[in-house]
Amino acid sequence: NAGPDAGLQVRGISRSFGGLKALDSVSLGVRPGEVLALIGPNGSGKTTVINVVTGLYPAEEGRIVLDSEDITRLKARRITELGVARTFQTPKTFPGLSVAEHLFLAKRLQPPGQVVGEDLDPWVRRLLKLGGIDPDDPRMMARETGQLGHGQLRFLEIAMAIRHSPRLLLLDEPAAGLSQIEMQGLEQVTRELADLGIAVIVVEHHLDLVTRLADRVVVLELGKVLWEGRPDELMDAEAVRVAYLGG
Ligand code: ADP
Repeated sequence: NAGPDAGLQVRGISRSFGGLKALDSVSLGVRPGEVLALIGPNGSGKTTVINVVTGLYPAEEGRIVLDSEDITRLKARRITELGVARTFQTPKTFPGLSVAEHLFLAKRLQPPGQVVGEDLDPWVRRLLKLGGIDPDDPRMMARETGQLGHGQLRFLEIAMAIRHSPRLLLLDEPAAGLSQIEMQGLEQVTRELADLGIAVIVVEHHLDLVTRLADRVVVLELGKVLWEGRPDELMDAEAVRVAYLGG
């Protein structure tokens, strides 16, 4: 699907928790091959965007369209099957299962790839290596994830997310807790995955990383889109400076 509607389009979605409007008519889009950075202060609704798009918390208003298909009311499981993959702010794994078992499960639980049409196994291997996990070392692959370090978990989680060639990849603060070298690896591999035709949304606090990696930036504040533009315009945007950087 290379048409004008290719990729993800979020149109006017709202979501409340109790009396709190976490998302208030948010619209944004990301096309295949594009990296969109979602930034904004804590509590501005970034993770909720990911949770709503993936069907974890359905939107109360608005529409979510993936490659021309309306996915607004679909169940999370179905949205995953359509090729939407995510990672979590804190990597979610099963501490008693091994690295190999995680990759096996990720492949079993996800449907065959939809878009990229390419076996991403080489990328899985690369991600593991970047995370300090040697895919050719059986002892390493047999290690339970409860024994892994933070960076290793992070890269394993991304490897699991791409195990079945998603069309949309949602990364929630992937650089948090990574070393400088790990961050560079993450940056490079994210760019390369986008270049394969995956649409990528990355929630990120590191503005230097955002500037280098993102094609476009959306700034959220109190559940609304405050600003949207190119990363090189970000620092010149008065509204962004005031709200996000404190002046
Ligand atoms: P961000 O990712 O930008 O830090 P979030 O999307 O996590 O912000 O949260 C936006 C707002 O919605 C916050 O005020 C948060 O407390 C609230 N919120 C998010 N998820 C829930 C939930 N499951 N239950 C209640 N409140 C929530």
